[in-house]
Amino acid sequence: MVNEIIKKMYDHFNKIVDSVEVPVVSLITDADNNIVAISENERQAKFKICGHAEINVINKLFKKYQSKNLKGFKLYSTLEPCKMCVGAIEQTGLNEVFYFVDNKKFGGSATADNRITFKKINGEEATYFEEQLKKYFAKLR
Ligand SMILES: [Zn+2]
Repeated sequence: MVNEIIKKMYDHFNKIVDSVEVPVVSLITDADNNIVAISENERQAKFKICGHAEINVINKLFKKYQSKNLKGFKLYSTLEPCKMCVGAIEQTGLNEVFYFVDNKKFGGSATADNRITFKKINGEEATYFEEQLKKYFAKLR
């Protein structure tokens, strides 16, 4: 099941990797690991300071269920959620987060509420997501 989730994130990532956005994809599953929503960053194109993939995917579910209570759902992100997104995650009751790449500058896992568990997923996808992020930022310099 996790492989299916990773594949979905990988495919979606490759669709958006050449856009103007920092390439980050976030996905939410329900407690039974069914994928219920996926999103990417929409910050640059829409001039939304809160337009990170994690907040976008949470907003999708908020709208779908007309509730911000996402207790029992799991969030996956290609990049460790930043402090802003961890703040949003804390507002939802969602308490399981998986990510692939450490966010050394803005990562929020260390200062998050301790009822949220963060698990890092290693492997070739993690390496790929990290390489693409490095490439994106190298282009800006
Ligand atoms: Zn963020």
